[in-house]
Amino acid sequence: MSGTLHDIGQLRSISAVTVLVLLVVWESSAPFAVYFVGNSGERLRHGLKNLVLGSLNALLTGIVFVALWWATAEWAQTQNFGLLNWLSFPSWAHVVGAFLLFDAWMYFWHRLNHRVPFLWRFHRTHHSDPRMDVTTANRFHLGEIFLSSILRVPVIALLGLELWELALYETAMFTVVQLHHANIALPGWLDRGLRVLIVTTFMHKVHHSRWQPETDSNYSSLFSFWDRLFGTFQLRADPRTLEFGLEEFDRPEHHTLIGLFTTPLKQIRRTIPQRPRQDDQSMR
Ligand SMILES: [Zn+2]
Repeated sequence: MSGTLHDIGQLRSISAVTVLVLLVVWESSAPFAVYFVGNSGERLRHGLKNLVLGSLNALLTGIVFVALWWATAEWAQTQNFGLLNWLSFPSWAHVVGAFLLFDAWMYFWHRLNHRVPFLWRFHRTHHSDPRMDVTTANRFHLGEIFLSSILRVPVIALLGLELWELALYETAMFTVVQLHHANIALPGWLDRGLRVLIVTTFMHKVHHSRWQPETDSNYSSLFSFWDRLFGTFQLRADPRTLEFGLEEFDRPEHHTLIGLFTTPLKQIRRTIPQRPRQDDQSMR
């Protein structure tokens, strides 16, 4: 068991670091937004703070939750428990079902994080980044990761997931999450083509808009069709008119490491910035 857990951890780490390096190079040569003109130190500090959060989250899941998910998945398999086991699917359909059902859970969990004020306190750590780039994919509060990791236990059991399916899903999902947070722009035809199936950089940029009706849209993580299916899909006619972050978390003290860790404790109401100019508005 420990060998398998080790392999799973390695697969995810190697993939995450490789994709991170490739996207940092892409962002350096052709950035979508110019955030750090002549200030590479500021870019480094911004990225490191986000990566510190991501490393702590990886440590928490690695030390506590992977073993718990493993035990749950093992129990579901030996007891023949969970939807995918009850349906007696062939192994390929079991994998496809695992990807689709777990990604659907991720969609609803993300939606809940925007809807429930207690969950938003944690999730706003991710949204407060005004300079969204590939490192923002790591910028999640430890509390949010703790809650989502705990909830995964019954989800794994109820769906009858196998741990290697979850590991494969996590690797694919985090690759797409890094790609759609990156400060890059894909050619229009490519973004349009890819977003039929997966969440693209153009689609997810709208989710990080300061304008709440846009923040509360495009919740999908890996597959993009959940937003179309549940009526939350939205695009901006010109993505270059988007502004990222949260107006109530603009002050520099919110973006220090202490500021990021204490974001959930702050009694700050969500402010809704002005509607974008008429010609900049969203389209569906
Ligand atoms: Zn969100």
